[in-house]
Amino acid sequence: QTNVFIMKKKIIILGATGSIGTITTNIIFKNKKNFKVVLLTAYKNYKKLLSQAKKIDCNNVVIFDKENFKKAKKFNINRNIKIFNSIKDFLKINKYKVDYSMCAISGLSGLESIIEIIKVTKNIAIANKESIICGWNLIQKEILKYKVRFIPVDSEHFSIQSLINDKKKNELDIIYITASGGPFLKLQNSQLKNVSVEKAIKHPNWSMGKKISIDSATLMNKVFEIIEAQRIFQLPLSKFKILIHPKSYLHSIVKFHDGTSKLLIHDTNMKIPIFNSLFIDNLNRKIKTNKIDFKTINNLDLSNVDLLKFPTVKFIKMIPDNISLFETVLVTANDTLVDLYIKKKIAYQDIYKNLYRILKLKEFTKLKSSKPRNVIQIIKLSKYVALKTKSLCV
Ligand code: NDP
Ligand code: MG
Repeated sequence: QTNVFIMKKKIIILGATGSIGTITTNIIFKNKKNFKVVLLTAYKNYKKLLSQAKKIDCNNVVIFDKENFKKAKKFNINRNIKIFNSIKDFLKINKYKVDYSMCAISGLSGLESIIEIIKVTKNIAIANKESIICGWNLIQKEILKYKVRFIPVDSEHFSIQSLINDKKKNELDIIYITASGGPFLKLQNSQLKNVSVEKAIKHPNWSMGKKISIDSATLMNKVFEIIEAQRIFQLPLSKFKILIHPKSYLHSIVKFHDGTSKLLIHDTNMKIPIFNSLFIDNLNRKIKTNKIDFKTINNLDLSNVDLLKFPTVKFIKMIPDNISLFETVLVTANDTLVDLYIKKKIAYQDIYKNLYRILKLKEFTKLKSSKPRNVIQIIKLSKYVALKTKSLCV
């Protein structure tokens, strides 16, 4: 009798303690025979990170924040787990290629890690949309150089990718991305004046972090996803449209020049794109999901976006088709304003109003013709925009 040997895939998870990172770790835990996780990272939350590492038998973790890195060193009683303060330190000792990396750090701080990890991974799954929006040319350059396969994880982009499959760019006509409309879809414009943070973060269908939930309420999340899609699929921004679809079963529709359209439906759980990215080469993959009642397709309830209620969508028209430093302004100013709203320093509608004001500043509009040159330049600009936004808006 021969032993069937499964070669375990080596895995890295960046941002393991977050919402996407936790789903990824849990899928791997349930499929231990297929995977060996070699590195998990977090920013501060070392307690959760170490317990995740122990649970899935991972021997290396990175904690980026210095203070918490030190605390973790003291706290760690499991000598099998090595704690590093940066990815570079981990890579100095561990010189092998991994099969798959999940990049689920939030915000622009994920970009540097993505660039570092591309060099040592065969597949890179990226959820971190801010990095794709602001640094795609830098990411793509490395992906081509190191011959890495890129897998989009954001559900809309994952679904577009599966619909396009092996079709060519010139076969695509229009791509529709759906939006639930968030918790305020049914409110009148006048009722939006004093909406509370608590209400804004209650997403009807998805359970996500605070910041991305507010972006879903304002529809900024869709603005970001359209720009993200432009980067990934290399079509002009005008080829992407948003459709409101309150139930969130349908993720995208791709209309081809041959007269056909395809659409993709799955239940509202990030488990599905993440699972499929992990098992991308496994044709026998099977995942347990909630049963979708296909009668819901009887009424997808699609509608156009009301621009009065969701004025953020108009920002798409201000974005250049080719990547520029201006998108770093958009992402960071929004990030800062959402944070101010969460801290109750500004009102809900001030997010949009202030963002508009900032995007019109000459010092920023002129960045539309500057292509990002490196990560440091993006991070520096981002820090400046955050300060400027705070000083102008509170
Ligand atoms: P979370 O806020 O839940 O998690 C963020 C993760 O990144 C945590 O592990 C956090 O560590 C780590 N992190 C935060 N700041 C830093 C930093 N400065 N340096 C290094 N690591 C850091 O985010 P989500 O999981 O919700 O989202 C992750 C990314 O995926 C985002 O870009 C988001 O837009 C995108 N995305 C999320 C979706 C979702 O359903 N949640 C859907 C589609 C895309 P710590 O815990 O220690 O703070
Ligand atoms: Mg999405």
